[in-house]
Amino acid sequence: MSGRKFNFNPGPAVLPLSALEQAQKDLIDFAGTGIGILESSHRAKEFDAVFQETKARMAKLMKLPADRKILFFGGGANLQFAMLPMNLLPKGSSADYVNTGVWAGNALKNAKLIGDARSLLDTKGEDGVYRRVPSASEIKVTPGAAYLHLCSNNTIFGTQYHEWPDTGDVPLVVDMSSDILCRELDWSRFDLVYAGAQKNLGPAGVTIVIISQRLLERCADGLPMMLSYKQFVAKDSLGNTPPCFPIYMVNLVLKWVEEQGGVAAVEKVNRKKAAALYDLFDAQPDFFRGTAEKGSRSLMNVTFRLPSEELEKKLISEATAAGFVGLKGHRDVGGLRASLYNAMSLEGVEKLVEFMKGFAKKS
Ligand code: PMP
Repeated sequence: MSGRKFNFNPGPAVLPLSALEQAQKDLIDFAGTGIGILESSHRAKEFDAVFQETKARMAKLMKLPADRKILFFGGGANLQFAMLPMNLLPKGSSADYVNTGVWAGNALKNAKLIGDARSLLDTKGEDGVYRRVPSASEIKVTPGAAYLHLCSNNTIFGTQYHEWPDTGDVPLVVDMSSDILCRELDWSRFDLVYAGAQKNLGPAGVTIVIISQRLLERCADGLPMMLSYKQFVAKDSLGNTPPCFPIYMVNLVLKWVEEQGGVAAVEKVNRKKAAALYDLFDAQPDFFRGTAEKGSRSLMNVTFRLPSEELEKKLISEATAAGFVGLKGHRDVGGLRASLYNAMSLEGVEKLVEFMKGFAKKS
């Protein structure tokens, strides 16, 4: 479609064009109802069909174990930072948190306000930058802990877990906001996963929570309805008006993933996209300096520095003029960040790499 740029924003981020085009139609007339999706009742049978389809598609694409419940919340991943300990960190118990960056740290800070949340491990470098995630064997959970919390992909620092610790009986809880559905996973290992939709799943406005039956049974009773996992399960996320349009968009994005051949197919492309950039860094390390350690490199957020801040500004401005937008790094790391979520095409990344090579050559 003419005028669309290559969007490397960290989130909200690029969405599949087919999903946007379908939404454009459904904004006016949704499912032949003569009213738009934004105008539909959340109790209408047409919306209910979308809602049920979204859950079924997600469960199928992820190959979720049968006991997993899929829930839809407003409030972003930030609300989950608080909901998680409210539901699962009762007095007298403690939870382990691994701190690998801003979001992992914020999850811990929020949990400390509610219960005995402990920093098990912190991978901050001496310069204040998080360049790595721990290996699976570095993570030694506290026996009897209520849960272990990890952030699978550190959006700001460009690091990602590529293996999971053995937690024994301790439930593993993961913030997958910036890498959910980017690769195949053994979902039986995770008791609770949450993810804001606005990177790999859809627009901002809805957060997905996937919870196992055994963890659900441990959740607190007596919480207000909007803060209770149990109540959300009992009411199938429809205890109040849900974020209808974001859920509808998630369904379209999941449909697109299906059309690509599923998660394995998308993962294959994601690996090629990330390799295109990391190979460039490895070939020209004096010019493109990746900020993440090799073993922790993210498939989704590729962070790097150039020899000077001046060159960084110049690359960002020339790239923007050439149609590559959203490349400015987070202020905590500086430099550049290319976010390569599922909907970013291999073509987009290859063109960016060509552009970067040309920039290095003339600089
Ligand atoms: N976790 C991660 C990994 C993130 O990248 C972000 C930022 N989108 C958040 C949590 C916070 O998400 P939200 O803005 O949806 O609260």
